Amino acid sequence: QGPVVIVGAGHAGFQVAASLRQLGFADSVLIINDEAHLPYQRPPLSKAYITGAAGPESLFFRPEKFYADQKIELVSDRATAIDRAARKVKLASRGVLDYSHLVLATGARNRLIELPNANLVDVKYLRTLDESEALRACIGSHQRVVVIGAGFIGLEFAATARIKGLEVDVIELASRVMARAVTAEVSDYFLERHRVAGIRIHLGVTATGIEAARGRVTGVSLSDGRHLPADLVVVGVGVLPNVELAAEAGLPVASGIIVDENLLTPDPNISAIGDCTLFASQRFGGRQRLESVQNATDHARCVAARLTGDDKSYDGEPWFWSDQGDDKLQIAGLTAGYDRVVLRGEQAQKAFSAFCYKGDKLLGIESINRPGDHMFGRRLLGMHRSISPEQAADRGFDLKKVLA
Ligand code: FAD
Repeated sequence: QGPVVIVGAGHAGFQVAASLRQLGFADSVLIINDEAHLPYQRPPLSKAYITGAAGPESLFFRPEKFYADQKIELVSDRATAIDRAARKVKLASRGVLDYSHLVLATGARNRLIELPNANLVDVKYLRTLDESEALRACIGSHQRVVVIGAGFIGLEFAATARIKGLEVDVIELASRVMARAVTAEVSDYFLERHRVAGIRIHLGVTATGIEAARGRVTGVSLSDGRHLPADLVVVGVGVLPNVELAAEAGLPVASGIIVDENLLTPDPNISAIGDCTLFASQRFGGRQRLESVQNATDHARCVAARLTGDDKSYDGEPWFWSDQGDDKLQIAGLTAGYDRVVLRGEQAQKAFSAFCYKGDKLLGIESINRPGDHMFGRRLLGMHRSISPEQAADRGFDLKKVLA
């Protein structure tokens, strides 16, 4: 054995440490944490946390005592370089940590927009607890927000801001919302739901400028010539994986840190997991980089198992969720590349699922307020099984019997 050093204290970094201890790993476990909080969960940051009164401790995976009890050392610092030959990590504080195995769980950071005035105080992003706290304060003090980007985070924030009484405009370059991640049917449903809630969604346009007076935002100009008044801009245009530490250490990177099916880099002493990782996927073929809690935590469990003697390749089945207003979207599998959609349930009742097929193969299920379908999809796909489009279309077809 020997010390395991983990860079990054997000979902992936925390989980690998916790799983190592659960699996009986006896040597030192250190997590390098460059955020000024105990490790915390991100999903509530764009959802309940923004509206609530709960403090940061409501987000922490575990209280401080857990780390002491489990002998997991939290190192408040930032990793700045890896000396692979000597198996050392250099820290911003000039400290150095020795490792026997290094786990890179550096996650991702906000993609920034490049527009004049984009650095003003009223232009916000949403990735960290500190950023969510800042937005929580803005919700009480601002009246009109323009959200740039109709992805999950932009729409979750938009729904929350609207519930809190703000005027909300969302602008999106694509012709539908969440276009990269969900079917057109699900995009259309959410577009309508947000519009009914009073959110104005502008598709097929970009922001060309942010206007300001005396250092405060006054509006956003659009590529079609329109101008939207605003005193707050929230940018949700995706993330960039944090690959620089790996790249500077000579490890291969592309749109993520490249690892094999066991989540190992070409250096047998360095693994990479979570949002920062471009992993060889035996389930889907090719390489995948995913941004989800499932991906981060299942990667972490896989690496912890390997480091305690159970070496098997990663085979997690992806799943995801997003809460927008009163609607819960849950996705089992990866639906990109679908060529046929079968709907089950009732859109009018606000409870339906889109079964997504490529040919006759079920790729995944997008469920809105239908948790039973979601759990069915996770179990079915987890077993590498499918049901036919005809079965999915048949209202009398009993999904539960398939799993029995
Ligand atoms: P991260 O959570 O990004 O953690 C990486 C950590 O490493 C960060 O703390 C970073 O500061 C740190 N770090 C980076 N470089 C260094 C360094 N050199 N030294 C030390 N530390 C370093 N997923 C879902 O499945 N469902 C959801 O509903 C959902 N909602 C979300 C809502 C929001 C607002 C956000 C931001 C994300 C959401 N996600 C959701 C995505 C999910 O949170 C991420 O996929 C997950 O956090 C990835 O975990 P990670 O540990 O790989 O990366």
